[in-house]
Amino acid sequence: MKDSDETYQDGIEPRKYKLEDRFNFACHKGKECYTHCCSDLNMILTPYDIIRMKNRLGLTGDQFLAVYTKPELLARTRLPVVTLKMLDDENKSCPFITPEGCIIYEDRPVTCRYYPLGMAAFREQEIQPTGEDFYFMVHESHCLGFEADKEWTVSEWRKDQDVEIYDEVNHSWMEFMLRKKSFGFQADLSEESRGMFFMVSSNVDRLRRFIFESSFLEKYDVEKDLLEQIKTDEVALIKFGFDWLQSALFGEDKVQMKDHVLKAYKEKAEKAEREAQKVQAR
Ligand code: SF4
Ligand code: SF4
Repeated sequence: MKDSDETYQDGIEPRKYKLEDRFNFACHKGKECYTHCCSDLNMILTPYDIIRMKNRLGLTGDQFLAVYTKPELLARTRLPVVTLKMLDDENKSCPFITPEGCIIYEDRPVTCRYYPLGMAAFREQEIQPTGEDFYFMVHESHCLGFEADKEWTVSEWRKDQDVEIYDEVNHSWMEFMLRKKSFGFQADLSEESRGMFFMVSSNVDRLRRFIFESSFLEKYDVEKDLLEQIKTDEVALIKFGFDWLQSALFGEDKVQMKDHVLKAYKEKAEKAEREAQKVQAR
């Protein structure tokens, strides 16, 4: 627990927490501060958050994005994300909070699960070129959870809050967020590429339409069993979507183009190069 007169700029304790590091915290219904943490938030939603929340609410991807989110372009990575739209009330409340608590508790976003911890990947100023994973502690004056004897390691907290599945499904998205070198750390993505990233990250229904209702399957080789799986399994679909993004944007070979399509692209590129050389020679 921090000393009572100790304060942190913007509530973030200036210390990196690793999995084995310890902290005191307890949160439960009946606490004086119960639900005080569920308003005026600028919360980025992860791909798996969106899947869990839209399904919980029985909405399509388009409906969920339209009703519950706001688009945002991250300042440093210039990647498009969505944040959870707060209500237009006095407290700017989360749309899912009631006096009884969170009405989507079992499907609440990963940021709510981690709190009072935060992940480095969600703070752009903390982005590490090495992709080093660490956590930070958010101290907010309204939260009485720190005044508890219950002690956790970061690892125990992650398990208790069931975040492991979120981190596993969001892994590729996180790597984009962390701008790892292997994913084109230096690359500034085109508008079209950012649109592809947004579709894979934020709208699994649109991604499904893109794969199954466009010329996608005429261009890419997708193994039969995987194709069957991604028709119905949304988690498999976004994992496949990120494999495709890595292939399309950063030249990895996770999802391969069909030979004749690749050949046609190469011939087109060679022709364009020859014509450019002719223009230069004039
Ligand atoms: S989703 Fe639930 S836990 Fe998260 S801020 Fe909203 S009400 Fe609170
Ligand atoms: S202890 Fe903190 S996290 Fe729990 S309800 Fe109170 S303000 Fe929210």
